[in-house]
Amino acid sequence: MSNQLKPCPFCGSNDVEAFAQDEDDCPHRSAIVRCHSCDAQSAQMVGSTKIDMAIRAWNKRSEGADK
Ligand SMILES: [Zn+2]
Repeated sequence: MSNQLKPCPFCGSNDVEAFAQDEDDCPHRSAIVRCHSCDAQSAQMVGSTKIDMAIRAWNKRSEGADK
């Protein structure tokens, strides 16, 4: 795995996961990063690099919260 998720910017938990929502009833098949501790989540991303995009969005938010 080349993508490293940063801890949750809201609760500090490392229990975060990036995953694609590929269920048939999810029309956009988007990918998000979610914190299992406080249920915070990143923006939903779509497209062939949606997982990478979601991770990038999550990490960017985490960096911003630290400053
Ligand atoms: Zn959290």
